[in-house]
Amino acid sequence: MAVNPFEMAKKQIDIVAEVLDLDPNIHKFLKRVERSLIVSIPIMMDDGTVKIFEGYRVHHSTIRGPGKGGLRYSLGVNLDEVKALATWMTWKTSLLNLPLGGSKGGICVDPFKLSKKELERLTRRFTAEIINIIGPDIDIPAPDLNTNPQIMAWIMDTYSMQKGRTITGVVTGKPVEIGGSVGRADATGMGLYFVLQAMAEKLKLDLKSLKIVVQGFGNVGGSIADLLYKHGCKVIALSDISTGIYYEDGLDLEKLLAWAKQGNLLKDYKNDKYKLIGNDELLTLKCDVLIPAAIENQITEKNAEKIDCKIVLEGANGPTTPEADKILFKKEIYVVPDILANSGGVCVSYFEYVQDINSYFWKLDRINEELKRIIIEAFEETYKISEEKKIPLRTAAYIIAVSRIAKAIELRGIFP
Ligand code: NAD
Repeated sequence: MAVNPFEMAKKQIDIVAEVLDLDPNIHKFLKRVERSLIVSIPIMMDDGTVKIFEGYRVHHSTIRGPGKGGLRYSLGVNLDEVKALATWMTWKTSLLNLPLGGSKGGICVDPFKLSKKELERLTRRFTAEIINIIGPDIDIPAPDLNTNPQIMAWIMDTYSMQKGRTITGVVTGKPVEIGGSVGRADATGMGLYFVLQAMAEKLKLDLKSLKIVVQGFGNVGGSIADLLYKHGCKVIALSDISTGIYYEDGLDLEKLLAWAKQGNLLKDYKNDKYKLIGNDELLTLKCDVLIPAAIENQITEKNAEKIDCKIVLEGANGPTTPEADKILFKKEIYVVPDILANSGGVCVSYFEYVQDINSYFWKLDRINEELKRIIIEAFEETYKISEEKKIPLRTAAYIIAVSRIAKAIELRGIFP
């Protein structure tokens, strides 16, 4: 049976609570979300029938600032998944020391079965349903699985129409023409790249000689694979939902990205040298770096023993279960945790929010420079704790993130 992601998120808190000898009251506090809103979204389909979808927005913590977290459209979306994702966002913004909290949202829907007009109606109605708990001072959504800048534009427009004025800071990941930030589209990939560079330096590995496997070919997987290719690194295997492809000498990412950008799946890509492989085979290929960048629960106690790499760089949120973490640590595989590795997205989202509020926009160089500074600072701090205490990078990152939240709770006190 699939692992419940919220149970997994709570288990991760238990692990760090023990290491930190955390106050039991704060421990209890952290395992609950602040608020969850479940909404019904009735949509008039193009054929005149009405379909009702279910949507969620969850705030795990707003103790250090407005909630921040993506919005996903997928049939896998349910309340516990959203709660887990919101919890992980709290740790991520805290680890980077951003003045934000953690939230997440989603709609249980297969967006590929909707027309563009249906998708727009779904997005606008969902925005109207959650309007009281989002806003630049409350909670700021962003793209995630199967959502994109166009969807963010519809949310911004719906919110602004209801408030009677343009409020760009209600979402991030918008098109640059309407208050988006340059560098946001590639921010998660860029952050992954900076962290991998830093990790390779620590382990005295030459990035260009490494064999890299990427699971997922969307916003995150596509972007990191592209950056690696452009920097002369070798991606030997890659997958999307349709299949994995493998070529020992390195895949031609330029051609593959052009193929995917036209809306094509990897299973239909023709190259006689490339071997089609399944998801299980892809994850257990011998390589130096494995980048799971698709969905959660991919490295579990079932396949962890067979994972054959030096570094797992978590592009996706929650791809490794706590049981698998233990096995990988024993095998001396470094797992660079999601809350650190893929935090480039939320970091540049924060820059977008700051730019919107100030109505002053930065150049790409400044975005990448500040991103690198913030993410590398978090990496160095995490790595140091992990080496000193001889603990996994995830536990070290959680020590930093959870301590900051615990301190904020202690300082603010429990209302009333
Ligand atoms: P996306 O929808 O753009 O891409 C997802 C990719 O994974 C697609 O190639 C899809 O075909 C593939 N995929 C989906 N289900 C799969 C399955 N069952 N097996 C194998 N492949 C599958 O989504 P994304 O925005 O790239 O997000 C991917 C992951 O990264 C998610 O866990 C998300 O929460 C996380 N993340 C995203 C961002 C961001 O900026 N978009 C930031 C941080 C973390």
